[in-house]
Amino acid sequence: MGDKILLVEDEQLVGMMVRLNLQGEGHTVTWARTAPEALAEATQKPFDLVLLDIGLPGGDGIELLAELRRRGIGTPVMMLTARGDVASKVRALDLGADDYLGKPFNVAELIARAGALIRRSRADRELPADKLVRFGAYEVNFATREAVTGRGRVTLSEKEAAFLATLVRARGATLSRNDILEEVWGMDATPTERTVDNLVLRLRKLFEPNPDAPVHILTVRGAGYRFEP
Ligand code: CA
Repeated sequence: MGDKILLVEDEQLVGMMVRLNLQGEGHTVTWARTAPEALAEATQKPFDLVLLDIGLPGGDGIELLAELRRRGIGTPVMMLTARGDVASKVRALDLGADDYLGKPFNVAELIARAGALIRRSRADRELPADKLVRFGAYEVNFATREAVTGRGRVTLSEKEAAFLATLVRARGATLSRNDILEEVWGMDATPTERTVDNLVLRLRKLFEPNPDAPVHILTVRGAGYRFEP
C-alpha cells in the first residue's frame, strides 16, 4: 500500500508535477496550497511525510514547520525551496525538518529521498517486540502487554495495548474514532464508536494522574484522540 503524503505547495505547475509523480509511485497525495490549509490537514489526520514549500500564502513554510513540531506532530518533513537560500535551510533543519531539497529539483531525486525518509521514519515508529514505551510516570511493554500504571502493574488486554500503540505511533497526530476502529479492530469487525470511548475511559484510569483532566490521552473535540508523551 502507498504512503500518505501531504504536499504543501502554492505553485500550480510544481504541485501538479510532484503530485502526478508521487501518485505514479502509488502514494496518496493531499495537496494544500496555503499554510492554514496545510495546518488543518496535518492536525486532522496522520501523514507519512510532509513536503513543505517555504514561500506560501498565509504564512511561510518554516513557521508552519515550527507550529507542527510545537503541537507534537513528528511526521517527517522535507522542505522545498529556492536553491542557495542557506539561512532558511539552517533554520528549517534547526526546527526539525528531516530533509531539504532546493528548487528546481529533479523529480526522480525527490521521489527517492521521500521514499528513504518514509522508510526511516517507519522503522523508528514500529514498536519492535521488545519495545518499552515510557511516558509520565508510566511504562508499557508492548511485547508482554505488561504496564506500570497508576493502579500498579497490570497486563493490558490486546485491544488496550493495540489502541495505545496506535496512538503512540501517530506521534501527536489526531486519530479519528474511525482510524482507530480500523487500526485496532480491523475492517471486518463492527464495534461502535462508543466502544472506542469506553476503551479510552479504561486507559485513562490506568495512565492519567487525573482521568478527568487527561494529559496523555487527549480528546480532540469533534476530531478524535491524540497522544501526548
Ligand atoms: Ca511557493
